[in-house]
Amino acid sequence: MFNLNSENIPVFAVQCATGVASILLVITLYTNSISKEPLTIDKKRRRKKKSKKQENSSEHSAVKCPYYSGLVNLGNTCFLNSILQSLAALKHLRGYLEKCCVYDLSNSDLENIPITFSLNRTVYELSRPLKHKKIISPYDILKSLDKKKSWISSRQEQDAHELFQLISSWLSEEAENVFSSKLSMSPLNLNNERAKLMSQEENPIRMVRNPFIGFSAHRISCVQCGYTDTIKHYAFDNISLILPRTTKCTLEECLQNYTSIDSLTDFSCRQCSLNATRCRIMKSLEQATSEPKISLLKKTLARIEHALAGDLSTELPDIKITRITSKHTTKQVMFARPPPILCLHLSRSIFLSNGMSAKNSCLVEFPVQLDLNPFCTDGHLSVSPLKPISIHRKTSPDNRERSILYTLKSVVVHYGSHYSGHFATYRRQGDESSKRWLRISDDKVEEVDLEEVLNCEAYMLFYEK
Ligand SMILES: [Zn+2]
Repeated sequence: MFNLNSENIPVFAVQCATGVASILLVITLYTNSISKEPLTIDKKRRRKKKSKKQENSSEHSAVKCPYYSGLVNLGNTCFLNSILQSLAALKHLRGYLEKCCVYDLSNSDLENIPITFSLNRTVYELSRPLKHKKIISPYDILKSLDKKKSWISSRQEQDAHELFQLISSWLSEEAENVFSSKLSMSPLNLNNERAKLMSQEENPIRMVRNPFIGFSAHRISCVQCGYTDTIKHYAFDNISLILPRTTKCTLEECLQNYTSIDSLTDFSCRQCSLNATRCRIMKSLEQATSEPKISLLKKTLARIEHALAGDLSTELPDIKITRITSKHTTKQVMFARPPPILCLHLSRSIFLSNGMSAKNSCLVEFPVQLDLNPFCTDGHLSVSPLKPISIHRKTSPDNRERSILYTLKSVVVHYGSHYSGHFATYRRQGDESSKRWLRISDDKVEEVDLEEVLNCEAYMLFYEK
């Protein structure tokens, strides 16, 4: 529903060498280590107090609790593990999941939100600093995902990006289930604190929105006649960036390319089509001799001219429209409402002339701090076909207030070829002030330098506002 890149892109296959012998042991450990109870408000408060303390002594606690959990590979599940570890680094997501669970507390079995609930428990476990090394199992979340799509645990070829899109759309779907059922309930049916929450004027769906969701502005214009279709806004939860066929490029260049004005040659232009229909009717009118036909043609002509002078999208079902494909059309997409979490997918699939696919190993230079402002609309939308929807402005030190700054939180990397390989994650360690980074490959967790992170062959990037 929210995917811009829903076309059937071949995915990177994974064939993990990691064994599964320790699965049962780890599942037992995991079951013992995680409470089966949903998050209660009290627990949430306790955790808030705790995290405040941690913020005050971030470096101190990093020394005292230097470890983070790894994830056991349940057989080709590195694509899942890499996504879970990336998601665990995102504070907006953790806040969102907790809120959803609090809202759904009145439903004792949480049947409305199985994925939200199990993801909440998993990312909580993964984001917790520990005194000792620990490996947990993703079995809980895998079981919930499997109920939605049985191939997740059975298929041999899996893709981390494809899985992310499914998880994100299911989170939105589950939130709608929770809040639509809540909205239909009278506050009298809800107890104390929840009743207060639900009786607020605000629509809870707006208060708790999937943090990956942003909106982009799309414009199509015909250069031939100057017509611009209505600028439409679409929701997205991730953006797929096509990489150039070069050895290296920058992320900003990819975003520049994504938001630049593109040329199309197959757009059916409404204004060109109505103009051509008008000419055709006028010719018929010149040749017509019978009075009833002349009268009918005049009426038809008047309706077309009315549409041309006013609303081009007026439906004219009984008039045969001459379809004109414009030879020169421009298309542009820009960010209209940037999301709290920006997920960028670096599309590394190359389609060869022999029908095969290959991997594009272009090294993408990405920043720790990303300013999205040059790729966003600014409220003044242009309908001129050859001008940008909004003027790109480079953020200079003088207009810092215009910048829309994101901080890099995690990176999914893919090793290997297009058809087989392995997914792993680089993620920021602890809270966002931390400059320490982790490299996590299934159950192996190690501390690394930022330099290593910035030189990796990124497949997905997660930035947070
Ligand atoms: Zn046109």
